Amino acid sequence: MTLAQGATIGILGGGQLGRMLAVAASRLGFQTCIFDPNTNAPAAQVANEAFHASYDDSDALTAFANRCDVVTYEFENIPTAALDAIEALCPIHPNRRALATSQDRLVEKDFLTDLGLTCAPYTAIDQGGDLATALPAFGGGILKTRRFGYDGKGQQRLGADDDPTAAFQALNDAPAILEGLIEFSCEISVIAARTTDGSVACYDPGQNVHKDGILHTTTVPATVPARVKTDAVLAASQILNALDYVGVLGVEFFVTPGALIVNEIAPRVHNSGHWTQNGCAIDQFEQHIRAVAGWPLGNGQRHSDVEMENLIGDDVDRVSELATSGAAIHLYGKAEARPGRKMGHVNRIIPTK
Ligand code: AMP
Repeated sequence: MTLAQGATIGILGGGQLGRMLAVAASRLGFQTCIFDPNTNAPAAQVANEAFHASYDDSDALTAFANRCDVVTYEFENIPTAALDAIEALCPIHPNRRALATSQDRLVEKDFLTDLGLTCAPYTAIDQGGDLATALPAFGGGILKTRRFGYDGKGQQRLGADDDPTAAFQALNDAPAILEGLIEFSCEISVIAARTTDGSVACYDPGQNVHKDGILHTTTVPATVPARVKTDAVLAASQILNALDYVGVLGVEFFVTPGALIVNEIAPRVHNSGHWTQNGCAIDQFEQHIRAVAGWPLGNGQRHSDVEMENLIGDDVDRVSELATSGAAIHLYGKAEARPGRKMGHVNRIIPTK
């Protein structure tokens, strides 16, 4: 199915990713419709229409699906029942398997391992007793909830001698995994896109630096050997094909001397792909819209070196200084700058030598 101009693309979730998707869709002549409980959601400010209701409001979900020609999403944690209600009336891209795989860290790691990709050593932690056995065996590690973790939330670094009962309780006894600690030289990510006919295009891998568990900067080109970039792009393509994926997917990796380790996948446009807005003719947002609309992918080749920096919380107060710095400024229209909240980002073009 190829969507014609004027067709409506529905977006579940109205945050900054939804906002930038809506702008890209609008540039291609599509209408956009946002579903988000928050009446001042960043994406709703730039869309043609918005439904503000909870994800268990079946009447609102039905009206939303009837309004849309295709539905996509900007976050992973959409309740299954909401997706069932929408999918009965309107196609959803990326598909349900991609979403289910990335919603649960254990399912995700099993999927990646079955594909022959390397993950950090991991084991399921269903109760405190599992952790008591696994912690000494792993020599410590990172305890992560299986579901609903983001930006380092729902995670705890543990030493081999830490109290397993207290650690499990600190995550509210939620089903979790314990991951072995990886000593990586750097973190990179690949933003990859796939269409219904199986065409794949990957952006140049970016190098990521986190601060307090939140992405701080992404820089392209990454300072890793070409063969590491090739391995990363091949792994991302393999994941897309295995999921019969349509849209943009982000894959995060740890680079170690021995192996490229997949950390996690995100079935959506990704913060570490924001550099593409000023480094490529076709950015990740347009690429995603093209894929879900049944269009061919565009030219995602990098034409410049770029550093993307997130503006978190009060960082946004630097906007007047940044406005004269030559950086491209992207703000999300959020009213209140709370600590840890992503308020915008800047892309600095770095002259190529
Ligand atoms: P995640 O939410 O899984 O992306 O983790 C957030 C950040 O924590 C990652 O970007 C890494 O910097 C760090 N991290 C996560 N898992 C591991 C691991 N197994 N070993 C070392 N660092 C990790």
